[in-house]
Amino acid sequence: MTESENWVVAFADADETQRSLLGGKGAGLAGMTKAGLPVPPGFTITTEACRAYYDAGRTMPDGLWEQIEAAIEALEAATGKVFGGDEDPLLVSVRSGAVFSMPGMMDTVLNLGLNPTSTAGLAAATDDEAFAWDAYRRLVQMYGEIVLGIDGSRLHEPNEHDRVDGQAAVRRLQTIARDQSGSRVPEDPRKQLRRAVAAVFDSWMGRRAIDYRSMEGIPDDLFTAVNVQAMVYGNTGPNSGTGVVFTRNPATGEAGLWGEYLPDAQGEDVVAGLRTPEPIAELAVRHPEVHERLVELTDQLEQTYRDMQDVEFTVERGKLWMLQTRAAKRTGRGAIRCAVEMANEGLINRQEAVGRVTPDRLEELLHPVVEPDDDTVTLVTGLAASPGGASGMVAFTADEAVALTEAGNDVILVRTETSPDDFHGMVAAQAVVTSRGGVTSHAAVVARGMGKCCVVGCEGMTVDYGEQLFRTPTAVVTAGDVITVDGTSGTVYAGLVPTAEPELDEDYETLMDWVDGVKRLDVRANADNPADAAAAHRLGARGIGLCRTEHMFFEGERIEEMRRMIMAPNTVARAEALAELEPHQTADFEALFTEMAGLPVTIRLLDPPLHEFLPSRSEVAETLTDLKLRLSGTGNLAEIDHILHEINEQQEILDQVERLSESNPMLGHRGCRLGVDYPEITAMQARAIFTAAVHCAEKGIDAHPEVMVPLVAFAAEFRQQRDIIRATAAEVFDDAGVEVPYHIGTMIELPRAALTADEICADAEFVSFGTNDLTQTALGLSRDDSSRFLPSYVRAGIIDGDPFQHLDEAGVGALVEIGTTKSRSVNPDLTVGVCGEHGGDPASIQFINGLAIDYISCSPYRVPIARLSAAHATLEHEAASTA
Ligand code: ADP
Ligand code: MG
Ligand code: MG
Repeated sequence: MTESENWVVAFADADETQRSLLGGKGAGLAGMTKAGLPVPPGFTITTEACRAYYDAGRTMPDGLWEQIEAAIEALEAATGKVFGGDEDPLLVSVRSGAVFSMPGMMDTVLNLGLNPTSTAGLAAATDDEAFAWDAYRRLVQMYGEIVLGIDGSRLHEPNEHDRVDGQAAVRRLQTIARDQSGSRVPEDPRKQLRRAVAAVFDSWMGRRAIDYRSMEGIPDDLFTAVNVQAMVYGNTGPNSGTGVVFTRNPATGEAGLWGEYLPDAQGEDVVAGLRTPEPIAELAVRHPEVHERLVELTDQLEQTYRDMQDVEFTVERGKLWMLQTRAAKRTGRGAIRCAVEMANEGLINRQEAVGRVTPDRLEELLHPVVEPDDDTVTLVTGLAASPGGASGMVAFTADEAVALTEAGNDVILVRTETSPDDFHGMVAAQAVVTSRGGVTSHAAVVARGMGKCCVVGCEGMTVDYGEQLFRTPTAVVTAGDVITVDGTSGTVYAGLVPTAEPELDEDYETLMDWVDGVKRLDVRANADNPADAAAAHRLGARGIGLCRTEHMFFEGERIEEMRRMIMAPNTVARAEALAELEPHQTADFEALFTEMAGLPVTIRLLDPPLHEFLPSRSEVAETLTDLKLRLSGTGNLAEIDHILHEINEQQEILDQVERLSESNPMLGHRGCRLGVDYPEITAMQARAIFTAAVHCAEKGIDAHPEVMVPLVAFAAEFRQQRDIIRATAAEVFDDAGVEVPYHIGTMIELPRAALTADEICADAEFVSFGTNDLTQTALGLSRDDSSRFLPSYVRAGIIDGDPFQHLDEAGVGALVEIGTTKSRSVNPDLTVGVCGEHGGDPASIQFINGLAIDYISCSPYRVPIARLSAAHATLEHEAASTA
């Protein structure tokens, strides 16, 4: 017999480290057996046997059944009982057990081996006829459902009589089984076993299991093991029972045994929820010795596995039996406290503690949570774009959202989609819902950037701006109605659903200190205003990696000044308009430098095409129509004059809008191209930056300005902009009599820039990869339009995922690597960063960590995720290099 044909192994003989062969449950049972814990004996049929079963076309491969029979004989010898025998019979459970636990997804049959004679034998041996027939009834129910495939509800209908007369219940259920499936539970125990094992193999390819695996990303070809184990009975009276315990509280992480116990019951009774179990502390009252032993054994398990365990046990007439142990699933809060305390106890080291908390779990901790109750009504579901929860009044326009907020209300902005024009409304709103769009749509990206809850792409929802309402298949919601949004699950609820603010406690701070001690990459934040900068700082950002100055121009009166600047007919007029903007910028930068005192603040010069600051063509056209109407309705000469003047103004705006309109603005007149054509814009921004730095220096605040030139394609563009910035700095410092150290650098967001980074970065002091635009330009893919067809690309298997979420390593990643290598080849001291959404994405961070990059920069609320992911990347890198 070759190694690969060794399909069956006793718990006592198995090597518990072979998890992929034994499955999680089998490995746990083997481990507990080896450690001398009281585990009912049994054996594992390996995942390889399951694979062979499928290879053979869903039949037992040659030799498997013989091995199972031999194992049963060994089990009989070990227990001194006969499988299905007529005196004190050996009964077994048949339990599924995949490598990754799939709770509730696969099947288990208990009490195998019962038939009328062995039931009589069990009754005699236990002196409890009711118990024996009840066990047989349970077998018929489970076998009927799992092996014969009968709809469970047909077999589980409550029947008062069943408890009293178990024998009649078995007869009744056997009849139902025959009527429903054409066969009954066979009397031959070996037939029962053979079919039950096959049924557990089959359940690997059941709908439920397949769906669960696709959701959790578990591959189909891992297969399941099957565990056959001697039964123990928790349902033999008040001295018996069954329970589930955790070695710590999985919701809070608090140390100490936590769980439930159900007296006089078999394991599946706890799951079925027919009776409410009691807290595990009650066991200390009922059976102090059993409780003490349980504490002792579970402690031992935690010490052995060095992690929080989830344990199933049964008490049979005062004797404790251990039936399962596995690493416990836990909440974010639970994960952190447990990791910190285990490290403090010396059970694991700090690196391991850091590795135990996943970015997903941490993220859960950072957002307020919606807690729906029984009265909660779901309006519609969409894509969970940005986690968290919020309630508020529905507003359909950004202005309305601002007005309602200013009046002291919480507001939810609801739109078909959002555009940069809605930004102020998004700032004001507590959450954003759009009927269209994907998870990289404007609404989604901006909301995530603000750490604001957002649901997009709500199927079946229509927004009617005219009527000021939205419809879902079941409801109509009008402006001002209150709704609640859960961005974690992607659900919109009617009315006010309670939410809870997350609290970042001491354990969190401790863990994050350890995280910072592990990681190699620095983490900065993308922040455009003092509030974001403060949030980022609080969450551990070491500076600002990207401040998008244009966001400052959208606020309040500034947009008017900006428009005047854009409308300026000549350089002089433009200089005047810029002069009005400058003090605002200076004040903004001063606030940012103050918040980030001692840390770098990277300010990107104006980037978007100018038309984005003007009203849309249709808006102006509408204003013009209104004005003309007013003109025809008045006879007042003064008013006519006034209206004519306004018409003139609007006409000029319309002309300018038309002049600036581009057929492909993303690739048009933007980035440093604006600065090249309008050097006075670059000069104004540079003056604001250095004046702010001087003001800080005068107040003793340590400002570290870094001026970043966007969308550079040619080295000469960068040099030209750099010269303007340098000259301006010299001027400002000269006037003030104060000098502040600063850096000038560029952003690489065009393939040409990456490929010629050695030329472009020869004179730069830092460079930052703008991976959002680099993805757009490398793939020739517009982020705003791609949400319509990317999902079908993912479904068709053409790409793995959204390249705006996870960095496209082979393409965009290669450009980042080339750019890094080339720029460092001419400029070894260059600081290299990555800004863009990828800087907050764990998978992308893992890749970036492998390159010679110094820092990542992401939205403020992702800073802790980025820190943790950077630490994980370092740990994995170290593990790989020592392996
Ligand atoms: P799941 O993976 O769904 O928890 P299990 O295989 O662990 O399924 O079994 C279901 C229930 O039956 C559990 O409560 C378990 O403790 C109980 N059980 C399984 N095998 C035995 C056994 N040999 N004796 C007593 N109870 C058992
Ligand atoms: Mg199960
Ligand atoms: Mg279990």
